[in-house]
Amino acid sequence: MIPPPEISYGDLGTAKKSVQLWARTHGYAMRTQRRKFRKNGDISKAYLQCDRGGQYRNSLQDESTRLRHNTGSRKTNCPFSVVVTESDGQWQVMVRDPEHNHDASIHAYAHPVH
Ligand SMILES: [Zn+2]
Repeated sequence: MIPPPEISYGDLGTAKKSVQLWARTHGYAMRTQRRKFRKNGDISKAYLQCDRGGQYRNSLQDESTRLRHNTGSRKTNCPFSVVVTESDGQWQVMVRDPEHNHDASIHAYAHPVH
């Protein structure tokens, strides 16, 4: 699966939309993981990760989730992630980890963004 192009956008919303659209057309999905704020409350960075990624609350839950063979929303702790960083009013997309640890989702087109 191809990571999104590392280009800059005029605002964070557009950057995130573009990354998510790119992901959808390439068989995966991105969601916002966390944000970093400046002292004045403005967002300085936004981290997006593959929707198969993420931390589990405890290892027990991790194990039972992994053992379930439900392919719908199964998490694989995928490391794929990008960061969008603000600099001089431009939001630069940078790929942090370009590797997925799972196949492309065949359901990618079945979940339009509302
Ligand atoms: Zn992934």
